[in-house]
Amino acid sequence: MEFATFAERAESMAAESGDLATVALVADALAAAGGGDAPSDGDDLAIVARFLRGAVFPGWDGRTLSVGPSLCHAALARAAGANVTADDVEERLAETGEIGAVAADLDLGGQTGLAAFAGGGANGAPGDDGDVLTVREVYEELVAVAEATGDGSESFREDTLFGLFTRADPVEAKYLARLVLGEMRIGVGSGTLRDATAEAFLGASVTTPTEERGEDDRTDESVALVERALQVTNDHGRVAELARDEGERGLRDVSLSVGRPVRSMLAQAGTVADALSAWGEVAVETKYDGARVQIHYEADDDADGTGDDAGGGEGGGDTTEAGGDGPVSIYSRNMEDVTAALPELVEHVREHATAPAILDGEAVAVDDDGEPLPFQEILRRFRRKHDVDRMREEVRVELRAFDCLHAGGDDLLDSPLSERHERLRGVLDDGVSDLLVSDDAAEIEAVEAEALEAGHEGVMLKRPESTYDPGNRGREWLKRKPDVETLDLVVTGAEWGEGRRAELFGTFEVSVHDDRDGGNGDYATVGKVATGITDEELADLTDLLEPHVRAESGQTVSFAPEVVFEVGYEEIQASPTYDSGYALRFPRFLAVREDKSPADADSLTRVRRLVGDE
Ligand code: AMP
Repeated sequence: MEFATFAERAESMAAESGDLATVALVADALAAAGGGDAPSDGDDLAIVARFLRGAVFPGWDGRTLSVGPSLCHAALARAAGANVTADDVEERLAETGEIGAVAADLDLGGQTGLAAFAGGGANGAPGDDGDVLTVREVYEELVAVAEATGDGSESFREDTLFGLFTRADPVEAKYLARLVLGEMRIGVGSGTLRDATAEAFLGASVTTPTEERGEDDRTDESVALVERALQVTNDHGRVAELARDEGERGLRDVSLSVGRPVRSMLAQAGTVADALSAWGEVAVETKYDGARVQIHYEADDDADGTGDDAGGGEGGGDTTEAGGDGPVSIYSRNMEDVTAALPELVEHVREHATAPAILDGEAVAVDDDGEPLPFQEILRRFRRKHDVDRMREEVRVELRAFDCLHAGGDDLLDSPLSERHERLRGVLDDGVSDLLVSDDAAEIEAVEAEALEAGHEGVMLKRPESTYDPGNRGREWLKRKPDVETLDLVVTGAEWGEGRRAELFGTFEVSVHDDRDGGNGDYATVGKVATGITDEELADLTDLLEPHVRAESGQTVSFAPEVVFEVGYEEIQASPTYDSGYALRFPRFLAVREDKSPADADSLTRVRRLVGDE
């Protein structure tokens, strides 16, 4: 496809405001790029699909153009003539606000001269397709730009862009400038491209309103298949080719490739109460305060570097002995290759993985005892390119793997979390995060208390049956929301602990200052706190409170109002359980407020305000 044709099509998409009409335009462009009538059309489908999203490479591909705005401006200025400087380009940019508009306005060489210059770039023979710029040629030149390294690479990049700009007419220049800066602004999102792919190659009728589609119309299914293939391959170009060449079956059969990163599944904020009421059972685990890593281990028998068909596709057998030296690559949450920065994780995986695998987890900085260090410490290691060995001495990094996308030849994206976690344990014999599945709020709370006590950020709550949805920030994974508010509450009672803790108070009754009737000094209970307290703290609290016992009956004691706790909670509910009429959900001990007397404690009025009852 000629680049001018691509640019014209992009221009029409930009001018189209209707979503469905844009899908139709994109579908048309894909069909044309995938082998249209003109001989110059060629098979540019993958390139055009990516270009429409402002990308030169697939999402998993770590290559970048390394073309910042100033380099682009300099190339544009040179192409516009001897009397134009990068400053002029920037001045115009300040006026128009958009580089495409600036590029289209400049008087570039167009298709009149300087074409021979492009022969110095990567495309080889100048003039073999006249002076017509094709999308393939633009692609090849940009690949050369991305792959230039070392001395002179900066000027090579500028020269190559200059060469392209001098051959561009105004509309081409506009989309070339936008493409190299990675922002097409033509209203083609990932969903548009997905729908257009289904429409162009799978016979879907996305642009027909749902109610007008026939009963057995399979449009939604086709769209879902394209979406799934996108999640797996992370490449609009390859998915478009697969849809065209192999249809639905090809998309259905597409599998993960060890060595090619997929997008990470993400989490929303949520509470234990949310999770329990939505799912019944909750998988809870520590939320580590580190950096997300996706680790690809190819094992020895797939050392050809392709990563395809890892493990021979036998499936199921995570039985190899750990301790190989196969290729390991590590990617950040943005799919950047960070392998070189984390050699101990590479070693760890080689030592402990038993089969080819794609693992999801967190790289955490730890002290000499393996205790977590603050987030800033991992940042000193992550992405580091120099002095890795020296930094390795200073900051120790360990893996906490919490998910497994592929093991021993099996793709696991569609398997439930609990099964994936089992496969994770099967494929990695050390460094795996503990996962507890429970329907008991107290048990979940205990995991959280333990995690906090150990210095972690909190917990993640996950639906045990959830599949792995790359890139999705849905409600299948919840990061427990930190307490929005805390309350300062008077400790009015307690229950003795049990067993080993029989000599200690276990649960504390906490109350607000009851200011109904103008404040008579009474206290109204809002909850019982048993979590967030270490054994050591329990002993201290028992010593602190025992002198204030006013009455005792069985396991229960009441205290004179003397001690104030700071208490965190998830929410406040109206409840007949306590005499205040309210109950804290998931109350958590935070601290003794030694600086506060019971008179300074929070009041019932404040609670009523927090709930919205006043
Ligand atoms: P946030 O960055 O606050 O959106 O929280 C989500 C992030 O928590 C993920 O991207 C991970 O990097 C990190 N994380 C830590 N521990 C876990 C875990 N057990 N499961 C999932 N994500 C985790």
